[in-house]
Amino acid sequence: MTDEEFSKQFHLQSTPLKKIQLAIREGRYTIWERYNPPNFSEEYLEPVLNLPDKTPVTRKAPRKSGGAWYMKKKVKKKVVNTKRLCPHCEDDSDVTQKKVSIIVGSESFMTTTMVCEKCGSYALTPKIRKEMDEWGRKFTKNVIEPQPIFSESTHRFAEEMANQHGLKKVPLFRALTAFYLNHVVNLEDFQEIKNYCDKHPSRKLLNKGERSKVSVPIRYLLYRKIQIFSDVWKVPHSKTIEEAVLFGLTALSSKEENFAKLKVIAESLEQFIADVAQAA
Ligand SMILES: [Zn+2]
Repeated sequence: MTDEEFSKQFHLQSTPLKKIQLAIREGRYTIWERYNPPNFSEEYLEPVLNLPDKTPVTRKAPRKSGGAWYMKKKVKKKVVNTKRLCPHCEDDSDVTQKKVSIIVGSESFMTTTMVCEKCGSYALTPKIRKEMDEWGRKFTKNVIEPQPIFSESTHRFAEEMANQHGLKKVPLFRALTAFYLNHVVNLEDFQEIKNYCDKHPSRKLLNKGERSKVSVPIRYLLYRKIQIFSDVWKVPHSKTIEEAVLFGLTALSSKEENFAKLKVIAESLEQFIADVAQAA
């Protein structure tokens, strides 16, 4: 979309939320991140895409859902092109270019960007986010190693599924997590599908037996996805993996189901795992 077309579309949107959603879809936003504690606020923006249109968007919104808060400002800034304003403290007197170091798991990424002297917020522009991803992709080692806990029957079923696809159990856990975060949580009817799976009879079976930990080493790109989800829902990394794995295994165990939406997911999940196995 050209700048002109974007501006036009932006003004045509009927609610602030719709404007924000458009800006996210088009990647036309800058994140203003608090320096301390450092994290990835981008993740706050993702759920906004799925919020109902009537969701109020106000500047006083708390931070959890407050991605909307600074986005509103950001979007305005992009379009109207006003001077640099810190969206956290709403001050434009002390915003300057500075070096920042952003913690990513066990690593840190250095860059130069706009920083608010007053509150320490810094801007993660689309360009910087891209550079960061390029930097992170180069790591051949793992950034974090969460330890999700699964029941004996989950371990066993996962083992079986992994075998069927020529994978080991831990890579399967990673594949299920990646699939869930990339292809499931952003579905429009995610909540409906998740509720269905949570109540599915096979879920009960998956929870049987003694529970034990497993280490799942994670590289940069998946780490970022997990971080997003964990931040938004305020759950530890290990919980995010647990949820993703249980969802995936439930989907795989209910392929014969009449619930069409889940069937479609199960089929593409099968394909996804096959692709992962082939690449491994
Ligand atoms: Zn500030």
